[in-house]
Amino acid sequence: WSPDTIAVVTGGNRGIGFEIARQLAVHGLTVILTSRDEAVGQEAAKVLQEGGLNVVYHQLDVVDHESIALFTDWLRHNYEGADVLINNAGVNGNVGTEHSVESVQMVIDTNYYGIKNVTRAMIPLMRPSAAGARIVNVSSRLGRLNGRRNRIEDPNLRHKLGDLDTLTEEFIDNTVSSFVQQVDAGTWRSGGWPQMFTDYSVSKLAVNAYTRVMAKILADRPEGERIFVNCYCPGWVKTAMTGWAGNVSPEEGADTGVWLALLPDEAVSGKFFAERREISF
Ligand code: NDP
Repeated sequence: WSPDTIAVVTGGNRGIGFEIARQLAVHGLTVILTSRDEAVGQEAAKVLQEGGLNVVYHQLDVVDHESIALFTDWLRHNYEGADVLINNAGVNGNVGTEHSVESVQMVIDTNYYGIKNVTRAMIPLMRPSAAGARIVNVSSRLGRLNGRRNRIEDPNLRHKLGDLDTLTEEFIDNTVSSFVQQVDAGTWRSGGWPQMFTDYSVSKLAVNAYTRVMAKILADRPEGERIFVNCYCPGWVKTAMTGWAGNVSPEEGADTGVWLALLPDEAVSGKFFAERREISF
């Protein structure tokens, strides 16, 4: 890999995102490390730059449309786009037992709509190449449709969310907004939503479904302009999000994301991975 390959990482100031940025730069790419807080992001980028890595910083808040527009203008002007996009930024608001609608909305807005906002803005900027551009969405097994311990109860809704022939972005949007409405109305507990980390699980379930829909839409692009999009679960990772209670390091948590970003030519699209293996949605 050479510095001519440009990778953008969201939420790159710490945790898994920082590690993905570091590993991609170690592979020789130029990494645009982004964060919502400019000072902490600059500091993180500096650590990597001082290690001799090709890392550039720019501010990017995935829920702020103005920030996204400023970022994409800057990227277009300076690099004519990017080859790799890692949608890593995420939050877990569900730390307590009670869901406030504001905190649930924030989790959905960041984890699901944040990825959609950035993807939509970045698709026109993904640079043409023979190998195809790559988008990697950092998701979670908690968002699995058919997880044994944590899933949507209604088999009909599960079927609809898993049926790629009929699944649309609009249906995913409606599903998450129905969840938020039930939280607002205080009725979500009887709504058949995943039992564990419910708002987080719903947000990641939406990310997974969106990954599949986008892969299908992007599959129509001509040879030379292809974009592959996949999602993966990093495992239970020792980061701030888990209170450093995970069972794998950020290095291990980043590994499959980096591997997906750098897969050779015959890249896959619309799949879900963990530990470098495809897993079911
Ligand atoms: P951290 O909390 O350490 O990092 C989350 C990152 O996302 C931070 O850089 C944070 O920025 C950033 N972020 C949050 N909101 C925004 C926003 N609006 N715009 C830009 N950046 C934002 O957690 P992890 O490193 O563990 O999480 C990274 C990803 O991995 C997330 O998507 C998470 O859901 C996923 N994941 C993590 C697991 C784990 O066990 N840790 C398991 C499964 C998935 P700031 O510092 O400003 O808050």
